[in-house]
Amino acid sequence: MTIKDIVKAGTVAAKRVFGNTEDEATIEWRLSVCETCPMKKARATKAKEKASLALAGLRQGPVCGVCGCSLALLTCAHEEDLHEDSPTEAAQRPESCWMKT
Ligand code: SF4
Repeated sequence: MTIKDIVKAGTVAAKRVFGNTEDEATIEWRLSVCETCPMKKARATKAKEKASLALAGLRQGPVCGVCGCSLALLTCAHEEDLHEDSPTEAAQRPESCWMKT
């Protein structure tokens, strides 16, 4: 998936799941941070996400290796819709992670 594909698919998914999305500049900035992050992974998503992601056609694509969330969905979500990290997740998140800003 290209960044453009991720933004498009994530926007559709975030609108379905949360009702709205972040602005495009913010989404692209978040994705650019994830792109060089050592925690970015290409693997299956968490079971709890599968139903909503399947609806949006997002079962593929990169995920965050810390929380397992689809980067397409995570980077498009408004700050108030982002999940709170567990202490373990928070400790694993690199200082450069946009979720720490
Ligand atoms: S840790 Fe942060 S920057 Fe890295 S992949 Fe996950 S959300 Fe992106």
